[in-house]
Amino acid sequence: MSLIRLSGVSKIFPPPTKDAAPVTAVDGVDLSIAAGEVCGIIGYSGAGKSTVLRLVNALETPTAGTVEIDGRDVTGLRERELRELRSDIGMIFQQFNLFESRTVAGNIAYPLEIAGRSRAEIAARVTELLQFVGLADKARSYPEQLSGGQKQRVGIARALATNPRILLADEATSALDPDTTQEVLALLQRVNRELGVTILVITHEMDVIRTLADRVVVMEHGRIIESGEVFDVLSAPRHAATQRFVASIIEDVPGGDQLQTLRDRHPGRIVTFTVRDGDVTQADVFATLAAHGVRFELIHGGINDIRGRVFGHLTLSLTGEDRAVTDAIAAASAFAPLIEEDVRG
Ligand code: ADP
Repeated sequence: MSLIRLSGVSKIFPPPTKDAAPVTAVDGVDLSIAAGEVCGIIGYSGAGKSTVLRLVNALETPTAGTVEIDGRDVTGLRERELRELRSDIGMIFQQFNLFESRTVAGNIAYPLEIAGRSRAEIAARVTELLQFVGLADKARSYPEQLSGGQKQRVGIARALATNPRILLADEATSALDPDTTQEVLALLQRVNRELGVTILVITHEMDVIRTLADRVVVMEHGRIIESGEVFDVLSAPRHAATQRFVASIIEDVPGGDQLQTLRDRHPGRIVTFTVRDGDVTQADVFATLAAHGVRFELIHGGINDIRGRVFGHLTLSLTGEDRAVTDAIAAASAFAPLIEEDVRG
């Protein structure tokens, strides 16, 4: 059974100005997330991702459809039931949203105070959480004395204070540098694996999806346009918008200025192909090019590991007799489509 289930959910906001049309932020979304799963939601800004999160923790009520947590409709809950629901759902944010006037321990204690726990219980839980997130020595520090990564660890500890079964993460690592991002992702992985917390993450970062998510959902204009296993969606996106989005978060495909630089530097025809574990081997492509007497140089690209599976893009500059290059591209494309960068547009 799903822990989180959205069925036919839409959310329409009133027009922002008198003359404007209402805003359909979420449009007929069906989404089921099993207990223990990590699900990533990706998509351009304005796609409706945050609204989905806010519908899950009942900060917004759906205009149509139902949102269920553990089989229970969250719309129209009474105050007390809503409090119970919120203590079952932790949330972390891009800007951490810590109370600057409270110490680290005070921040983590906050949801427990709201829940009316005893002092002794709060103290014990805060100590336990500080240890879990590796900040036992920072209990009395204030947020301004912490690095971004430490602040987010406090955010995670606070979100976990009431032992929620669900954690919602809204661009939780987008304000962090790459090293710190890895550190926070490793902690979130422990939250999922050791504590069994179901995680729903919104992100535009490849690393977050790659290292954390089991499944990914792509949103555009309030709708889910594609979803599936992370490897499948990232390595073979079906929808044109997903292809564009994936290309924008994957750095191994040369874009705009980068492509111009490559063109200035290399005389040949520039092609990119996708390497995909199991069905495309580089060796077949290279052997075919060589067999046609075409010289090739690897000028850009990268190989990613997605949960032990290989996926990436390699960009080559091909030189040789024009006809031979054309034939070689056609022949090698039998193994992996060689996309000419001039044609990609
Ligand atoms: P994302 O998280 O993918 O960037 P959002 O869910 O924040 O997208 O927003 C989806 C759309 O809904 C956007 O057009 C946004 O302007 C609009 N929207 C979000 N919240 C509100 C609100 N409270 N009132 C009016 N419009 C909103």
